[in-house]
Amino acid sequence: MSVNATHDQADVDYDAVVVGAGFSGLYQLHRLRDELGLSVKVVEKADDVGGTWYWNRYPGARCDSESHIYCYSFNEEIMSEWQWSERYPEQPEVLEYLRFVADHLDLRKDIEFGTEVTSATFEEGTWQVETDDGETVSSQFFITAVGCLSTPYVPDFENRDAYEGETYHTGKWPHDSVDFEDKRVAVIGTGASGIQVIPEIGKEDVEHLTVFQRTPNYAVPARNRPLDDQTWEDIQRNYEDIMAEAHDDGSGFPFDTARQTAGDLAMEEVEQILEPRWQEGGWRFLVTFEDLLINPYTNEKVSQYLREKIREAVDDPETAEKLVPTDHYYATKRPPLHTDYYDTFNRGYVSLVDVTENPVERFTADGIRTEDGVEHEFDMVVFATGFDAMTGTLLQMDITGRNGRTLEEKWADGPNTYLGLGVHGFPNLFTVTGPQSPSVLSNMPVPIEHHVEWISDTIADLLEEGTRYIEPTRAAEEAWTEHNMDLAEETLYTTVDSWYMNENIPDKPTVFTPYPGGVDVYHDTICEVKQKGYEGYTLADSLDELGRDGEKPKLGIFEAMELLHDDPDMDLADLMEMA
Ligand code: NAP
Repeated sequence: MSVNATHDQADVDYDAVVVGAGFSGLYQLHRLRDELGLSVKVVEKADDVGGTWYWNRYPGARCDSESHIYCYSFNEEIMSEWQWSERYPEQPEVLEYLRFVADHLDLRKDIEFGTEVTSATFEEGTWQVETDDGETVSSQFFITAVGCLSTPYVPDFENRDAYEGETYHTGKWPHDSVDFEDKRVAVIGTGASGIQVIPEIGKEDVEHLTVFQRTPNYAVPARNRPLDDQTWEDIQRNYEDIMAEAHDDGSGFPFDTARQTAGDLAMEEVEQILEPRWQEGGWRFLVTFEDLLINPYTNEKVSQYLREKIREAVDDPETAEKLVPTDHYYATKRPPLHTDYYDTFNRGYVSLVDVTENPVERFTADGIRTEDGVEHEFDMVVFATGFDAMTGTLLQMDITGRNGRTLEEKWADGPNTYLGLGVHGFPNLFTVTGPQSPSVLSNMPVPIEHHVEWISDTIADLLEEGTRYIEPTRAAEEAWTEHNMDLAEETLYTTVDSWYMNENIPDKPTVFTPYPGGVDVYHDTICEVKQKGYEGYTLADSLDELGRDGEKPKLGIFEAMELLHDDPDMDLADLMEMA
């Protein structure tokens, strides 16, 4: 389908500017350019495609989704021509896959690499997108495809800059190989990245590896293995069905959630049920009980099972106890898979510092001083300390909507969006896997495809109808934000500090950021919104029609003063919009 002939783009440089050339940006470019015939510019900070898989090239970086479902499903040729080599794809293989897709669809020619968006401003009806090379281009639509975990975070440890050894962050790993041989290495952080990089560094000829752990994690074995030709043939034979199942599932996996609870079962029965899943490895373990994330009794039994597995795996009982999580339920923080993580602590040259008992006091020129007065000397410190997740990259882009209001001002108390796809006050802005959409609670390529297709179809509808603007109403956005919070409150996710809760970065408002209601329910919702003529959106041909939410009468000056009197902290941009 092409809408080329029906719209006039004379007043803009591009129909759409897309930020990011990872899974989302590549597919978004293809849909808009190749299926709708639109002019699209993709801006990408890295020198190549890949997004998160370009940057996270630390030893051991591997996807926790199984490879045959961690990929696109929209193109049969790509699905049949690409063959994955292992059960879980390692970072270089995912990167190679995305390069293959970019070449296959001839995407690179519309991507400007090595360029960063420094601001995006909605001005006089179009988006003005400025980049760090000093250029500004205009577009009708502005689409962020920046991923959810793309701004690395390094805690502001006292005296950090005084440290004179090598430092690395897992999320911004160098392209040249890093040499660990005979070095004293520290790794700070035991999230999914730490749990992958620690065993790899521990395998090398390091002199000593010290792991600084704040919160122990429950890691389930991945049990990676090569995918032989027979397995691959079986997958190919059923690929369409497998993908359809993944796209209809609550978490984007072709898994059957067992319709059972552990709440009423004796621990021995729970162990019998969990053991085969443990042996099989991977995230099917998560769907053993349907109420894992809502029923504390079920979760406590699963957590208990996992605690015993850690105790069995680690030789030194004191180290084992430090590695056993006791302060949160399983999977309320993002549940990592592991390969040899616990075994690593059985090597004589690997030690564990629990920073809740013994916090980092400061960095020194030679290493890290902990509060017990010990100076730990290191040749290298690896920060596996995570990301300014979900909103960090969006906020860094300096996005300004109607009335000169910035996204940063708008989200001062946490993100509020409509469907995780758009923001009131920011016309023609689309956020692929934005906050308050399922994104990180699922197998990412699935919600990415749903979003990209929804956005593309929406743009096609607008252009065909000759409608210039689309923007969520304030009421719809408020309702969606409240719905998101209500759903989160029904789960166990909100019982622990995590990056899902925005809690990993000091001063970020505490709020649950992804949509916890499931990919399937969410996808039905966004399709229904479209079927109902974009319910919750204002479709407008002129700027004057925006911001009134269709039904709201304009406020008179006295009513506006009254509102301000009642709520002196009220945002003036909100008031101006109503007045
Ligand atoms: P993360 O989950 O945020 O983990 C960061 C780690 O650093 C946590 O253990 C955290 O402790 C610790 N930390 C943070 N600040 C600290 C401080 N001041 N002192 C001591 N420790 C501190 O980050 P990540 O491991 O990079 O993973 C982020 C997400 O990326 C994952 O959850 C996942 O979604 C994705 N990812 C996926 C894969 C995969 O598919 N295999 C691999 C890597 C990453 P607390 O827990 O106490 O905050």
